[in-house]
Amino acid sequence: MAHKQLIIPIFIPFGGCPHQCVFCDQKGISAVRELPEPTEAARQIELYLSTWKGKGAREAAFYGGSFTGLPEKTQKDYLEAALPFIRDGRLDSIRVSTRPDYIDVQRAVFLLHNGVRTVELGVQSMDPKVLALSGRGHGPDATIAAVAALKDAGLKVGLQFMPGLPGDSIETILDTTQKIIALKPDFVRVYPSLVLKGTAMHRMYLGGLYSPWGLEEMTEACVQVKRLLDEAGVPVIRMGLQPGKELEESIAAGPYHPSFRQLVEALATSKN
Ligand code: SF4
Repeated sequence: MAHKQLIIPIFIPFGGCPHQCVFCDQKGISAVRELPEPTEAARQIELYLSTWKGKGAREAAFYGGSFTGLPEKTQKDYLEAALPFIRDGRLDSIRVSTRPDYIDVQRAVFLLHNGVRTVELGVQSMDPKVLALSGRGHGPDATIAAVAALKDAGLKVGLQFMPGLPGDSIETILDTTQKIIALKPDFVRVYPSLVLKGTAMHRMYLGGLYSPWGLEEMTEACVQVKRLLDEAGVPVIRMGLQPGKELEESIAAGPYHPSFRQLVEALATSKN
């Protein structure tokens, strides 16, 4: 029987981000407002490990920002907060999430040498126009180069994909899916785009410059996305944001459902 994995989330809201992407509100969706001290990260790891009774792999995960955009000293301080748990065998590895344009060979090697085994990249789209309209500040080439650098270093790569961003159509969504498959990631997370209060996308929505996808059409689109990923053998480890009170309070509009994955799977089954 496969053992369930423990992922200990440590949120670094907007840590290392050069600006705020139009759709993003890490503070609203995680309820964490400030960057934690490294000692706080260590305390959180200890707390999770002390209550975990499972037998699967245990991993500390720095989420919610662009980890490799932080000063190298800060990255090292965070990773060193987790390393003692790896040395004493209570933690297996560390994962971080970051932006594609903040990964190069040097950064990939630095992460590997400091206990990181998995990097999640916020790809969001592989369409240049969608990326530009979403204020990402990089094009699809940055993602292709980042995945190559991470794989060459021997790191596992997860890609995060946000269908329904400004400028997206079913064609750009399926094209992004194919381009993600071509990058051969170890896993993918699919987060349908939501309008979160206080973001630039919220202002675009209020000003009539962005129309979020409806739940039904996004579910239909994600049935096709998931089918392509399944056929290519790419594991989809999440579809839809983790439901929670903070998230639900921060949603202004968009295709939200607390069990989005189940909706997609039920629709896919009914079509077979
Ligand atoms: S989407 Fe990523 S890079 Fe953009 S603001 Fe949010 S955490 Fe930072």
